[in-house]
Amino acid sequence: MEEKILSLKHAFQQELSSLHSSQDVENLKVKYLGKKGPVQDLMVSLRSCTPEERPLLGKQINDLKNELSELCDQAFSGFLQAELSSRMEQEKIDVTLPGRRHFFGRKHPIIRLRDEVIAILSSMGFSVQYGPDMDSDYYNYEGLNFPADHPARDMQDTFYITNNLLLRSHTSNTQLRVMESHQPPIRIIAPGTVYRNETISARSHVFFHQVEGLYVDKNVSFADLLSTMDEFWSKLFKTHVKTRFRPSYFPFVEPGMEVDIQCSSCQGSGCRLCKHTGWLEVAGAGMVHPEVLKNGGIDPEVYSGFAWGMGLERLAMLLYGIKDIRLFTENDLRFLEQF
Ligand SMILES: [Zn+2]
Repeated sequence: MEEKILSLKHAFQQELSSLHSSQDVENLKVKYLGKKGPVQDLMVSLRSCTPEERPLLGKQINDLKNELSELCDQAFSGFLQAELSSRMEQEKIDVTLPGRRHFFGRKHPIIRLRDEVIAILSSMGFSVQYGPDMDSDYYNYEGLNFPADHPARDMQDTFYITNNLLLRSHTSNTQLRVMESHQPPIRIIAPGTVYRNETISARSHVFFHQVEGLYVDKNVSFADLLSTMDEFWSKLFKTHVKTRFRPSYFPFVEPGMEVDIQCSSCQGSGCRLCKHTGWLEVAGAGMVHPEVLKNGGIDPEVYSGFAWGMGLERLAMLLYGIKDIRLFTENDLRFLEQF
């Protein structure tokens, strides 16, 4: 029996020395110390020994069992350590490599300006309404007091799709639609894109953005228009801005006028931006023509209103010192990333 124990131990040590992984050790442990393994067999064979021999042999088998178990545990943790280190080595990340840059999108300068204009006018009580880009001649011209063959139509070269259907030449097409569907008080702005059949140059484009404002209620006066303009332009330029109003003609207002603000670059002393006049033309405005109110289903004897419109590209060019309107549509990142 003692010989058996010794040879088993010897065989175990030989096998242990040829292992390669922690999994091999686990398998070896099961093979020798498992319920059907040789150590268990030795325990069973104790039964055939004499009662005198049993205590000593029993102890020897137990010692063997403990020794093999301990050798297995040691080998196991040794392999585990090595395996972990090699995995760490393989999965290592070189943190000194430069990171990949992510490019974040941002709002186009015109959209940013539009949102700012909307925020200011919303805070002044105006709500936003949208009209269609493609509209009938009636909403773009006729209903706004531009009869057919009216010379004022030539002021805005229009893209006609059919005789009656066109790409709107101004956001004023929203005015009548709002009046038809709302009763005063009406206090709205209509931002949007507009289209004109013009030669593309540094100063003009076939496609640009406007914001239209309309206020209709009882007792709306010219003074309300002037104070609204003063407040809006000062809020947009974040400083008190002087305004100036010059008589002008637009068929859908009476009286009509051009709105100028004191030049933001030279404070009125004259510079290249304002062509040495000290003033910048920023909007067209006026009191809503009684005919237009009538067309919108509103009684001009009871109600009055004012309207104004401004081009966002022109405004952005003034605000940011941009000299060429074509930059807004060229999608040149070097330009767009400046905003
Ligand atoms: Zn100036």
